[in-house]
Amino acid sequence: MAKLKKGTRCTVCKSKGEKTKAVVFLPHHRLALCREHFIQWFEKRVEKTVKEFRMFSRKDRILVAVSGGKDSLALWNALVKLGYEADGFYIDLGIDQYSQGSKELAYSFSEKIGRTLHIVSLKEQIAPIPVIDKATDRPACSACGTVKRYYMNRYAKQLGYSIIATGHNLDDEVAVLFGNTLRWEIDYLKRQYPVLKEEKGFIKKVKPLCKITEKESALYAFFNNIEYIEYECPFSEGASSIEYKEFLSKLEEKHPGTKLQFYLNFLKKMYPILKEHESKQAEEVKTCVICGEPSFSDICSFCRLKQKVEKVTDTN
Ligand code: SF4
Ligand code: ZN
Repeated sequence: MAKLKKGTRCTVCKSKGEKTKAVVFLPHHRLALCREHFIQWFEKRVEKTVKEFRMFSRKDRILVAVSGGKDSLALWNALVKLGYEADGFYIDLGIDQYSQGSKELAYSFSEKIGRTLHIVSLKEQIAPIPVIDKATDRPACSACGTVKRYYMNRYAKQLGYSIIATGHNLDDEVAVLFGNTLRWEIDYLKRQYPVLKEEKGFIKKVKPLCKITEKESALYAFFNNIEYIEYECPFSEGASSIEYKEFLSKLEEKHPGTKLQFYLNFLKKMYPILKEHESKQAEEVKTCVICGEPSFSDICSFCRLKQKVEKVTDTN
């Protein structure tokens, strides 16, 4: 977060003739805000994003994918405060202390805001991530992503939710966009939109924090006394997305607004071109012959992963 000059007043309070000191400066929005107006600004920005991308309405039942980190808890808090019907969904990945700590924080937060937290344990369903990691030659995060997407979609349907909301923030989206652009991963770029519409067994997925930076969501969590897991998952070490984030943050420091512009211009100028191309050769959604969930091949990627894990765990 950019440094605040001593004695700076809150922009909003100043416009009302009050003299409250600002506690945060948002250089790319040219705003200095006090605690109260920062919280208000954050929630308004979330609401505006929800409306702009037609993510959901107050009639929808929303399932927030909660990891116990700042972004997902900040998102859940903001949605509930804005009057949306939002419950939480936590997947216990079985990653030692990290999962234990994040589950406790997610649970105590759900009690604090008085909303339901659904919990699914990988240990009971398939195997913990460290076991899955050993059973496959894929990077842990790639297998973890497959498993998380699968359970989120399946349980959201079973539990009667029509929307899955995730806490991906602007820094996450920009790092992924940057990586996909470096490698010209057209198929991934085509799917990089804050809304993935509902489609033949896939529930609608949305990212209401896509215009909020990591620092802004950390600050929102802090100002709302939200306790969140502060250390990273051990498998995130060495991930290229972290390097991209560091690089992009240096760029942002020198040129505030770079990240937001990169992302917004992609959505405005590049995404429509990719989308147009997609409609001509859309992939067919099938049904997995094993589990009956939607899939792009006869056996879904989750069931293929499960078969590999079972092979290893059965022989042990
Ligand atoms: Fe899963 Fe990788 Fe995230 Fe850890 S860092 S929770 S393994 S996706
Ligand atoms: Zn399947």
